[in-house]
Amino acid sequence: MSRRVRSRGGMELPALGQGTWMMGESRARRAREVAALRLGLDLGMTLIDTAEMYADGGAERVVAEAIAGRRDEVFLVSKVLPQNASRLGTPRAAEASLRRLGTDRLDLYLLHWAGPHPLGDTLEAFERLREKGKIRFYGVSNFDLHELEAAERLPGGAGVQANQVLYNLGRRGIERGVLPCCRKREVAVMAYSPFEQARLGERPALRRVARRHGVAPYQVALAWTLRLPELVSIPKASDPEHVRQNAAAGGLALSDEDLALLDGDFPPPERDVPLETL
Ligand code: NAP
Repeated sequence: MSRRVRSRGGMELPALGQGTWMMGESRARRAREVAALRLGLDLGMTLIDTAEMYADGGAERVVAEAIAGRRDEVFLVSKVLPQNASRLGTPRAAEASLRRLGTDRLDLYLLHWAGPHPLGDTLEAFERLREKGKIRFYGVSNFDLHELEAAERLPGGAGVQANQVLYNLGRRGIERGVLPCCRKREVAVMAYSPFEQARLGERPALRRVARRHGVAPYQVALAWTLRLPELVSIPKASDPEHVRQNAAAGGLALSDEDLALLDGDFPPPERDVPLETL
């Protein structure tokens, strides 16, 4: 999978990446998680998404081990917790993430969700981090349309390069407002939980399209989250077979007929809905 997504500020990132939520929680699973991420890198899924929140920094430590010796291959994304995202707290959190990740820079740093500190302070801190070369780009996560529009009006708002949101066949709410807004502004949309954390039901259309392509239903679900040029998708997998399937799904092109079938079982929303989160 080599498709890349470009945003307004010159950011260019791989469309297919790897998530890390739930990694780093158990010593017993650590080697398997590191191996899964390394396999994913070998197969071209070179974006890794993590956060200071995941396993209290444990996921970032797993990522450090996975990217050791191959940092330059990776587009590395981490996130600051809203309660830490003040003018002074943001650089402190960034330094702690960099230490845990064993690197000197992040490719993209996101505000995990809107929180108690004024967004203008977070954006200002992001700008300072960028000037210092600690982060290359910054963005937000779990921002609904009104939050994106408010961010845009702030100094530093035009620097927002990505919005990471819940998006999968069963959660299509962003198609009404968030997605068109990001498309118009050339802000990358990072789809998280493309499998609804393995709870996405295998409705008949998904099975039918999968049969047509000779792939597994979840590969179709993943390819669907990649079908537009502004979309990035970050499935999490620690099972090597899942990693292989996900990497292969990056090359799966769905036809208009496939998409129409999927729309039948997973209809797009008919009215505006507030942004959903997990
Ligand atoms: P997900 O990617 O939708 O689902 C992960 C689950 O699906 C795991 O149980 C995994 O099993 C299984 N799986 C992976 N590939 C599969 C395949 N090909 N076939 C069948 N099952 C498969 O859920 P997620 O972890 O919530 O979302 C992905 C990433 O998005 C996260 O890890 C995180 O980096 C990010 N995220 C961000 C936010 C945010 O607020 N910004 C929120 C949620 C998630 P195994 O692990 O056993 O392989």
